[in-house]
Amino acid sequence: MSLNPYDINPDFMKPDHINSDHMNSYGVIIISPVGDIPSWITAVIAERVKEIFRFETRVSVLLEDIFFAYDRDRDQYYSTRILEELATRMPEDCIKLLAVTQEDLFIPILTHVYGEAQLGGRTSIISLSRLMEYPNSGSREKSRCRIVKEAVHELGHTFDLRHCEDEHCMMHYCRKLEDVDHKSDRFCRYCKIFLSDSIKSLGV
Ligand SMILES: [Zn+2]
Ligand SMILES: [Zn+2]
Repeated sequence: MSLNPYDINPDFMKPDHINSDHMNSYGVIIISPVGDIPSWITAVIAERVKEIFRFETRVSVLLEDIFFAYDRDRDQYYSTRILEELATRMPEDCIKLLAVTQEDLFIPILTHVYGEAQLGGRTSIISLSRLMEYPNSGSREKSRCRIVKEAVHELGHTFDLRHCEDEHCMMHYCRKLEDVDHKSDRFCRYCKIFLSDSIKSLGV
């Protein structure tokens, strides 16, 4: 589909259309649970993603399972393969997608990943497997914070944001849960500017 947003509303051509109260009205960000994901999790992700990226969000199932990405030797799921499959299932109005799974994810060079995204692309995924200790241990609030931070982090990559050296910025790369807990739930001012420029370049 080649819908040109400028054809829909000429106001989009105004260069200052992105401001603190503006909601980008072209396209939605889909939060897509794979398997049995508690609805409060998709709800809190959708709410925070809407606040940060200023796109409407929708919770929608696009994949019933990810067995096709299962690696028997590692007993984990290959996230890059899942992103490729998701990219073929994007609804037309979907500008970016974040899948959420309980399964443990990997890419070949790492023992595990909290998530993966197509840099500057449209699809991303996070795994709750290591981020979510509740209800077995830890508080629901702690799990919620980690999940939201990593969800926004992966979606940030789809808007072409790279890893940030600021250890408090959500785009900071975290190897350990302590690092995830240590960073804030905000972008630093440089990443904010980069995100704003990236959204403008989409022409929405
Ligand atoms: Zn990252
Ligand atoms: Zn940053």
